[in-house]
Amino acid sequence: MKIEIEPEKCIASGQCVVVAEQVFDQDDDGIVVLHDAEPGDAAVVEAARNAARICPARAIHTHD
Ligand code: SF4
Repeated sequence: MKIEIEPEKCIASGQCVVVAEQVFDQDDDGIVVLHDAEPGDAAVVEAARNAARICPARAIHTHD
């Protein structure tokens, strides 16, 4: 599973970091930063999928 982000769409809400801190972080302006574009751990993969679902800006995409 691959993760892509669109930081230009991010509204700095922070939900992705709350649900998947192993994958996402925020820069000094609160904009999403991707730590791990291809997590191997199944729980982390599921957390990243959940982040993509709840992101209010639809700035996170997952690809199988
Ligand atoms: S959940 Fe979406 S809008 Fe919020 S910080 Fe993460 S990428 Fe940005």
